[in-house]
Amino acid sequence: MRFDAVPKPAAVEARPRDVRGYPVPAITPWDGERGPQFALTDYERSADCARGRLCSVCGTLMPRGPVWRVVGAAESAAIGEARASGRPYRNLAPTLEGPGHRACMLYASMVCPYLARPNARRGLDAKAPDDMTAHVVRGAIRGEMGAVVGFADYEFAITASQVLFRFVDVVEFLPHDTADAHLDELRRELAARAEDRTRDRVPGPPPDQPR
Ligand SMILES: [Zn+2]
Repeated sequence: MRFDAVPKPAAVEARPRDVRGYPVPAITPWDGERGPQFALTDYERSADCARGRLCSVCGTLMPRGPVWRVVGAAESAAIGEARASGRPYRNLAPTLEGPGHRACMLYASMVCPYLARPNARRGLDAKAPDDMTAHVVRGAIRGEMGAVVGFADYEFAITASQVLFRFVDVVEFLPHDTADAHLDELRRELAARAEDRTRDRVPGPPPDQPR
């Protein structure tokens, strides 16, 4: 499946694109003629997102309530194990990766190869080659590639050189086995958000259907 076949949240549709047509996330640094550096996280952009409660993918406001992020294989496995044994999952180690909307993270999990990999890949010392030749990444074992995870809350700290995030209380866990694992979930989420917007615009009784 090609990346441009994955439906985009409206705010992602509005993002600037690189030469191949990839939407560029809000926290991605631009390097002059070389264009966006997908493997890296820009300090100022990330700090702006943190201060303004903006989604790190689309750069627009996240409503109060849970936030989402894409975790790599190791964290996905740890969350899966904790849930299977009925223990709460706690990871107090900070990460450079900020939160986002549910739809944006479902989208990013399928389109952005870097988000589907372990944290280290996008660390400050990330020197990953921009090897985005594969439009999608593949895995075989459940959760091996990572997961889209909803958290009840998050906190952040802006230091002199880093913007660090910490997430608490897993409220949703969606591991992915294949790159298009979340396609149906993304379609449902976009439809639900579109329905919200329609309802907000049209005064009168809510539509007669269960939500
Ligand atoms: Zn977003």
